[in-house]
This record gives sequence, C-alpha cells and structure tokens, in this order.
Amino acid sequence: MALPAHDLFDVRSLLSEEERAVQEAVARFTDERVLPIIGDCFDQGRFPAELVPEIAALGLLGSSLPEEYGCAGLNAVSYGLICQELERGDSGLRSFVSVQSSLCMYPIFAYGSQEQRRRWLPEMAAGRVIGCFGLTEPHGGSDPANMKTHARRDGGDWVIDGSKMWITNGGLADIAIVWAQTDEGIRGFVLEKGMPGFSAQEIKHKMSLRASVTSALFFDSVRVPEANRLPDAHGLKGPLGCLTQARYGISWGPVGAAIACLDEALGYSKERILFGRPLAATQSAQIKLADMARRITLAQLLALQLGRLKDAGSMRPQQVSLAKWNNCRMAIDIARECRDLLGGAGITTEHGAIRHALNLESVITYEGTETVHQLVIGRELTGISAF
Ligand SMILES: Cc1cc2nc3c(=O)[nH]c(=O)nc-3n(C[C@H](O)[C@H](O)[C@H](O)COP(=O)(O)OP(=O)(O)OC[C@H]3O[C@@H](n4cnc5c(N)ncnc54)[C@H](O)[C@@H]3O)c2cc1C
Repeated sequence: MALPAHDLFDVRSLLSEEERAVQEAVARFTDERVLPIIGDCFDQGRFPAELVPEIAALGLLGSSLPEEYGCAGLNAVSYGLICQELERGDSGLRSFVSVQSSLCMYPIFAYGSQEQRRRWLPEMAAGRVIGCFGLTEPHGGSDPANMKTHARRDGGDWVIDGSKMWITNGGLADIAIVWAQTDEGIRGFVLEKGMPGFSAQEIKHKMSLRASVTSALFFDSVRVPEANRLPDAHGLKGPLGCLTQARYGISWGPVGAAIACLDEALGYSKERILFGRPLAATQSAQIKLADMARRITLAQLLALQLGRLKDAGSMRPQQVSLAKWNNCRMAIDIARECRDLLGGAGITTEHGAIRHALNLESVITYEGTETVHQLVIGRELTGISAF
C-alpha cells in the first residue's frame, strides 16, 4: 500500500488517542463546513462568521486553557493540530482562532485578575465575545518597543490615545487587548466595543487573508477603568509572551496549507494529459512533488517536536522562531510551486493554491516577519543582536 502523501513518516502514529481524535474532528469540520464555502468567501472578501458557533462548540477557542473557564483543557500538540487542520481550509479561519485563543484569551488568563478571567474567558470560549489584539502601530510592527499609543492615569481610570494597524478581527471584536506605553512602562488593557473614543476601521483592498477581518483601531482619549487593566502584564514581555503562544500555533498552521496544495497538485497532475501522458508521469513533475513531500515531512516533525517541548514546559522562543520561519517559508514556496503546476487553472480561486499562496504572504509577515525570526536565530548563534 502506498504511503499517504501528507504523512510519509507516519507522524500520526506519534500522536496520542486524544490528539488523533482532535485532529479527526477538526479535519471533518474543515472538509464539510469550510472547504465548500471558503473559495467564495475569499472572492467576496467575507469572513465566514456563521462558522464561529460551530468552532466554539468543537472546543477550538482557547483550547489549551483550563476547563474551569469553559475551555477544553487540551495540550499544546492538540492546539497545533487544530491550527494545522483549520489552515488546510484557510489561513484566515486559523488566524481567527489564533487571535481569539493565543492573543486574547491567553493574556486574560496569564496576566488578568480572577474577576477578568471569570468575566471574559467562558464567553470567549463560547464564541459569544470575540477579541482582537492591538500591538502593531502604523510606523513599524517589527519594532514594537517604539510604541506611540499612550495611556495616562486620570483618577481611578486610564485615558488612552493612539492607534493600531493591521488588527485581525478588529471590526468584529467585542473586546480588544490593547498595549500602550505608560509612565510605568508598557501595560495591557481590555477595551470594550462602544467605549467613547474607541473605533475600528476595516482595511480594504487586501489581496491576502481575504476571508479574515483586518482593521485599524483608533483611540481618541478612551477612558478605561483600572479594572480593565491586566494587572500582571509588565513591559514588552507581556505582548511578547502572547506572541510566543500565537507563533507556536502558526508553526503548525502552514503545514495544513501546504498539505492542501500538495493534495490538489497531485490530483491535478495525474489527470492533466500533456504530450500524450499525465503530467504526473514526467520526471520534472515527480521531482517537484517529491520535494514538496520531503519539505512537508520535515515541517511536520519540527512542529511536533516543538509541541512536545511546549507540553514538557521547556519550549524556548528561539525554537518557536525557527519553526515559524521554516514552516511559513516551506508552505509559501510549496503553494507557489503548486500554483505553477496547475498552469493557467492555478490563477483562479476555483483551485486552492493561489488562495493559500496569497494568504501565506500575510502569515510569513505577521507575528514577526521572516527577517525578524532569522535575526532571532542569528542573535542566538552569535550572541550579537543585529536588530
Ligand atoms: C493580515 C495581517 C494581520 C495582522 N494581524 C495583526 C494583529 O492581529 N495584531 C497586531 O498587533 N498586528 C497584526 N499584524 C501586523 C504584523 O504583525 C506586522 O505587519 C508585522 O509585524 C510587520 O510589521 P510592519 O508591517 O510594520 O512591517 P515593518 O516592521 O515596517 O517591516 C518592513 C520590512 O522590514 C524588514 N525588517 C524589519 N526589521 C528589520 C531589520 N532589523 N533588518 C532588516 N530588515 C528588517 C521586515 O522583515 C519587512 O520586510 C497583521 C498583519 C497582517 C498583514
């Protein structure tokens, strides 16, 4: 029997029964609920919000957080598999889950008070409260220490002025985790939709992540009570801690996008008859496909080992950087190569390759660009920061 193209090294056999069950459930959701609609959503520039209650019912929001907050209490490998299977559908849907789980629920859990956790986490796990995460500012996302958004104390409240750019879920969100400079250093705040002076504006003309909402956020003297400040977030390590969680999931997600592209290119090249034989019968097509399978296999093993380190409590941010860099690069290259194998048919969203390739332009950019992660590894190797 032939080895499955998307799992040449039987990585599945390294998963626990629970991890396999999670993967199967999310794979079914992607096949049945996402794939039939996602091409149209991308064309129309529409986030499929109607899927959020189902995503929540599957336990995919804040899946690694404890059950006492209404979450599934799954391990890190299961969270990775969730990201992989969702992104086999579309990077936009995976981005929605990453932001809700790693960038909004995680900081409330890790840096919030017990009241804040009880107030927001169960509602967020149920998908009734949607969150966004505002760190990036218009003048330069790679250098978050140069933060201009400012919060000043005013009696028992804080008053926030500034703006954020490229914020996933921004226009959808009921709450926003906003990072602001204060006289005491960087602090994190939970802003609520409807607070006077707080607004979101959708970013249009996107050619990437079209099935995801991306917005700019504006803060015009927004008055925020002290009860909405995350008490245990101090300095830049607050947002960076969230980014490590999200980047971990993003190390897995693109593996799913690459698998989707390889599956599609395999099917297409077996049926496409050129010069009297299937495209798949040519040496050059086979070398390309084999090379994709090789890179996917390596990425799968890298993601799984990263997950095992995370579950053991020993994962380091530098390891996350290496995995995010490698797996995004692997996936975007494969998506582009699959697009090429499909010829002219590859330029429409009737097929997934171009949608994945375009989406991966965002995935390789957000949560630290490829260059940023390369510089993290360079610093680790040399001991010299070249930022
Ligand atoms: C679709 C999408 C969704 C996003 N969602 C969110 C979100 O939810 N929340 C959020 O806070 N942010 C979000 N972002 C922002 C994202 O994290 C930033 O775009 C990213 O960090 C890069 O910042 P920038 O766009 O300002 O580019 P810049 O930082 O201006 O980078 C420009 C170029 O300079 C390169 N560069 C940077 N530093 C160096 C250096 N030292 N040496 C050499 N080259 C360098 C970069 O690699 C890049 O090629 C999102 C972005 C996109 C596209």
